[in-house]
Amino acid sequence: MEVELKQVDWLSGSTIALRFVPLTGESVKFRPGQFFRFTFNDDLGDFERSYSLCNLDDSVNNGEISTSKFDLVISKVEKGRATDLLFSASQGLVASVTGPFGRLVIPQRLPPRIILVATSVGIAPYLPMLRQLEIPLAAGEVQLTFLFGARDESEILYADFLVKYQQKYAASVDFRVSLSRDMAVSEPSIASYVHAGYVQQQLAQLELDASKDLVMLCGNPAMVDECFDLLKHEGFGVRQVIREKYVFAKDPVSQPTRKALTDEQRKLIAEKMNKYSR
Ligand SMILES: Cc1cc2nc3c(=O)[nH]c(=O)nc-3n(C[C@H](O)[C@H](O)[C@H](O)COP(=O)(O)OP(=O)(O)OC[C@H]3O[C@@H](n4cnc5c(N)ncnc54)[C@H](O)[C@@H]3O)c2cc1C
Repeated sequence: MEVELKQVDWLSGSTIALRFVPLTGESVKFRPGQFFRFTFNDDLGDFERSYSLCNLDDSVNNGEISTSKFDLVISKVEKGRATDLLFSASQGLVASVTGPFGRLVIPQRLPPRIILVATSVGIAPYLPMLRQLEIPLAAGEVQLTFLFGARDESEILYADFLVKYQQKYAASVDFRVSLSRDMAVSEPSIASYVHAGYVQQQLAQLELDASKDLVMLCGNPAMVDECFDLLKHEGFGVRQVIREKYVFAKDPVSQPTRKALTDEQRKLIAEKMNKYSR
């Protein structure tokens, strides 16, 4: 599907929210938590990056969202190819998308407690999930613990939404923010949720129970691995922990190996092939 960039909003000094819409106006279905692959075009040609949909405005029906909006939240990566393109993009940028993909989704049968853990833009897939969980939380059918990690207050993404959500479903939601660099918080409404350090430390402090908890880990690969190690110690297996690492793309265009073969190397390979095929 071809999509066009319609809206760009800065969420923090290093994060933007983008909205793409299909050129034809058609709609797409996905389960909250899933991601799409975007193919962009820059001076070097086509390249692909994956992004989770963070659609907050769409309602969830039977575990699915049907929408004509691709809402993304993207963090800046030093010398990143998509970063260079998207952080200077304006309306009208065209990309093609495929998907949805991914198994970071809420199961049909809810466990007693869901623990969501994210750092930075790893929050993206959880935003539509929070919509999906509204009815079960209101009915007391599930407990939710949401651990979010950022460097400082300016990077607490969607803070207003998260605080209001916690207050609305206070009996069922435990929301904690871990700030790793600067603990100073100027906004009083968020202060009571803030802890110093990393999400791993908050996870370790929970009364974890592998028979009741489903844990989702999303974002920075090192954080995901550390949390998973901790959970393994607590008796969790791969069934009770769903992981999505925002691993960096292997970009064939920027890797020189394919075009680096010299004539001499080609000749050598041809000679070897001949030798072995005799
Ligand atoms: C399933 C999936 C879902 C994803 N969803 C999102 C999302 O919702 N939002 C989002 O912002 N990203 C998401 N990502 C990551 C995204 O696909 C890109 O990898 C990211 O935007 C960086 O792309 P880039 O082209 O700017 O950097 P690249 O050109 O790929 O990288 C430039 C350099 O920076 C390094 N690098 C790349 N990323 C990082 C990083 N995060 N931290 C430190 N160094 C890095 C690379 O190794 C390379 O040396 C997701 C990835 C996956 C696999």
